[in-house]
Amino acid sequence: MVQSIYEIHDPRFNSLIHRNAGTDLLWEGGRWCEGPAYLAAGKYLVWSDIPNDRLMRWDECDGNVSVFKQPCNNHNGHTVDLEGRLVSCEHRSRCVSRIEHDGHTTILADKYEGKKLNSPNDLVVKSDGSIWFTDPSYGIDSEYEGDAAPSEIDANNVYRIDPDGTLTMVIDDMVQPNGLAFSPDESLLYVADTGMTHVPECAPVIRAYPVDGKTVGAGQFYAECDVGLFDGFRVDTNGNVWSSAGDGVHCYAPDGTLLGKILVDEVVANVVFGGPKKNRLFICATTTMRSIYVNAIGAAR
Ligand code: MG
Repeated sequence: MVQSIYEIHDPRFNSLIHRNAGTDLLWEGGRWCEGPAYLAAGKYLVWSDIPNDRLMRWDECDGNVSVFKQPCNNHNGHTVDLEGRLVSCEHRSRCVSRIEHDGHTTILADKYEGKKLNSPNDLVVKSDGSIWFTDPSYGIDSEYEGDAAPSEIDANNVYRIDPDGTLTMVIDDMVQPNGLAFSPDESLLYVADTGMTHVPECAPVIRAYPVDGKTVGAGQFYAECDVGLFDGFRVDTNGNVWSSAGDGVHCYAPDGTLLGKILVDEVVANVVFGGPKKNRLFICATTTMRSIYVNAIGAAR
């Protein structure tokens, strides 16, 4: 008997999956796949293979996978901004950058109050064009995913880049802020804390921070991961959170209830919705890129 890849924790999960849909293996051969972004106009997916210092590209039209950029300063997270440009977190150059329409790269942020950022990890674009990103220490902890270096800021924070380039620190109470995403109405910013990698007693949680325009309130507990850690995640149009975890992809309702899991036999680092209907979930699973069709649509950002 074939083992189901689905774990149903709440009946609501049944309406979010297609039981006869399996996981597609799109590519294998990475070391730590992260940071997926789907570019609708080009019909392709990009993602980072961080230790191999390369950015990969999967062509939706023919299924080919090729190297998009190498070396790439150990890119990590990616997203697509309001103008369809790829925005990237770079470990080795310790910055957030953007590829412009003409192909050249612009550095959007690399210092906070005159000190180098640690190693931007993941990012999200808000409807006002601002870019919100996390800055944990993983890219400066060793030579594996960047260049080992001390933290100049001596803290792991979350920041916002306004359209005019102003950089503002918005969250400073996490150990290792990592994945992040807004609720569909942008009233909440969800942020994962992977601080357990450095502080064993740090619970592997996602917190929800109330956001009013540029103002960020106190974070509240949203969900705790029961296998491994939450790294990157995305939100669907109904506000469900689809998160990476140690045993696959976990799906949580807006109230934090674990609805179900898509089991994957490698640790999952990040996910993104893509495809023409934004109902295909792309899964970065350690050494592989996979996908699965779900009955949910990725939120606009
Ligand atoms: Mg991450």
